[in-house]
Amino acid sequence: MPEISKSKILAGRRAVDAYRTAHAKLYEHGWRRGIPEEHTPLLNTMLAEFKKQGFNSLQEFFAASEELNTTELNKMYLREGECNLCGKCCLECKDYVGNGICSIHKAKPKDCANYPIAKDFVSGLPEGCSYSFTRTAYQTTVDTKWN
Ligand code: SF4
Ligand code: SF4
Repeated sequence: MPEISKSKILAGRRAVDAYRTAHAKLYEHGWRRGIPEEHTPLLNTMLAEFKKQGFNSLQEFFAASEELNTTELNKMYLREGECNLCGKCCLECKDYVGNGICSIHKAKPKDCANYPIAKDFVSGLPEGCSYSFTRTAYQTTVDTKWN
């Protein structure tokens, strides 16, 4: 991801953090008359910052922010090993038919085809997954848990 995009995302994150802090303060003593009027400018400030950074919506910003986390984690962890077809990552999926078989194998989502990536490792792989991850020397400057 180009540095310029990263800086835009980090600016967006700061805007969200500022909004969250102000929002929490607004409600620190519970709801009271006047909160909606005071809330609107907080929201507008955050949305204005998104617009300034080139994001057209909250969803667009959060998707880009998540992609930044994924990119950074992929630099931080190197995947090793091969799939043993245990199927444990598919157990809750309606398209899983058992014995390691995906009924939509050729059309399965990209996330399935790439599973597991570093983000999955950090969230926790199913017990028995035969992949392992090794920390690389890459030092991120991003809070990869931010969401
Ligand atoms: S769609 Fe994905 S999660 Fe579902 S069975 Fe296929 S590979 Fe597994
Ligand atoms: S849990 Fe790991 S080893 Fe098992 S099927 Fe999924 S990716 Fe393969």
